[in-house]
Amino acid sequence: MSNHTFTVRRPDAATALVADSDLPPLHHYIDGAFTDSAGEYTLVNPADGRTIADVPRGSAEDVDTAVAAAVTAFDTWRDTTPKDRADLLLAIADRVEANADVLARLEAADAGKPRMVADDDVSGTADIFRFSAGAARAYTEQGAGDYVADHTSMILREPLGVIGAIVPWNYPLLMAAWKIAPILAAGNTLVLKPSEQTPLSMLKFMEIIDDLLPAGVMNVVTGRGSVVGARLSEHPDIAMVALTGSVNSGKTVAESASDSLKRVHLELGGKAPVVIFEDADLQQAAEALREAGYWNSGQECGAGTRVLVHESVAEKFTQLLVEQVASLVVGDPAAGEDVEIGPLVSEDHFTRVTSFIDRALADGASAAIGGGALDGDGYYVAPTVLTGVQPGTEAASEEIFGPVVTVETFTTEKEAIDRANEVPYGLAASVFTTDAARSLSVPRRIDAGTVWVNCHLVLANDVPWGGFKGSGYGRDLSLYALQDYSRTKHVQINHGRR
Ligand code: NAD
Repeated sequence: MSNHTFTVRRPDAATALVADSDLPPLHHYIDGAFTDSAGEYTLVNPADGRTIADVPRGSAEDVDTAVAAAVTAFDTWRDTTPKDRADLLLAIADRVEANADVLARLEAADAGKPRMVADDDVSGTADIFRFSAGAARAYTEQGAGDYVADHTSMILREPLGVIGAIVPWNYPLLMAAWKIAPILAAGNTLVLKPSEQTPLSMLKFMEIIDDLLPAGVMNVVTGRGSVVGARLSEHPDIAMVALTGSVNSGKTVAESASDSLKRVHLELGGKAPVVIFEDADLQQAAEALREAGYWNSGQECGAGTRVLVHESVAEKFTQLLVEQVASLVVGDPAAGEDVEIGPLVSEDHFTRVTSFIDRALADGASAAIGGGALDGDGYYVAPTVLTGVQPGTEAASEEIFGPVVTVETFTTEKEAIDRANEVPYGLAASVFTTDAARSLSVPRRIDAGTVWVNCHLVLANDVPWGGFKGSGYGRDLSLYALQDYSRTKHVQINHGRR
């Protein structure tokens, strides 16, 4: 138990992350132009509760207009060569980099992101466009061949058509880029819906790339999931709906998509176990968790949130983790570039996370550090480590999505693996061990789309990202994303002489 207390660093009264001149046009982006909408709603900065801007509240009709534009644009875009598409994607990456500062500031203000997280999101955004440009040109199918006498078979890889992309608030620009880049690289057009809580960076993105893409290739409709997202999921002219979001939204989207039998691509929640064996380098594990458990204030689907540590080293490890967590800098993203933990994204989410902590404490857990809300304006929660968490309790099995790491203990390797797999999620996991055999055998038994060994939350755009079980299906990033956003067609030519 630590008696460390966190305080929220506040900026000078005169410091503002964004000026009015930084804001994008506050309209949908449809058919190559910013377009009015009938309704609006207000965005607030979660660091201080102040209004940032009013943005369009999209309707089903707005979605229909955007889909019609994407359908028309697909006719031409589908026939562009990989090189043409790659050149455009590289130009987009250049624009993102040239506007990195304003994109990061908008993201920080809209989502409450520390500047270091926002900067990382923007550089990851530029890189996925670069990766996808290269991938578009390098991606090939098996060569033509005769599998029936006198008949040559060719496998064509084709785009799917119009994709509906629906993205969350935790990485508004980056999660959108993970969809946009491979979707365009594969020759599709799209209609994207940002989270209603964080649409600014996507509208800015459209402003800065406005002259690059042909009209209708990429469209953005802002607004609520139950209206804009629902229409995208059911729209008969959409070939696939790709959602990054919560498990509940995933189920609703899959259900609405079933009527038109469109493809569904789901990147959903997670509850990543971090299995620490008795032979692990405990200092390395504690340092890795400082980042992996608390990056983006723990609002991270792959966060290392659920430690399963061997009982013989649990006390030592917890002490090392608490030391690491005590050094985290909490503050308003406008209060300095060294701020590591910002506010949670909204009042609702703040209430959700603090209630999780309260219920865990009532369930018998103890806060080794942190343990609740921080004083003052904004939605700040103290970086928290909960010990004595019992298997099967809510804190051990549900996604909290805040700066909270729980610690449970285990006795045998089999128990560790079974417990790592007992939650309904299967997005990511990690194993800390210095035993070479264990570092190869345990990851194979863990039911998660990514398993790290002696690290956690180390990402690269070249390798696939996505889950199993309740975390959904489909892969973002890497060549596998291009595969998901395209289809194969067999063309067979009879060349026998008659
Ligand atoms: P959310 O599910 O509430 O919202 C995600 C998006 O879905 C938003 O744009 C929202 O408006 C839309 N939506 C909501 N209801 C909908 C409906 N009925 N039909 C269509 N669209 C609908 O999720 P969130 O709170 O924005 O984001 C946090 C969640 O996202 C967490 O569970 C997190 O783990 C998950 N996430 C997963 C990944 C991944 O790669 N697997 C990455 C980031 C976030």
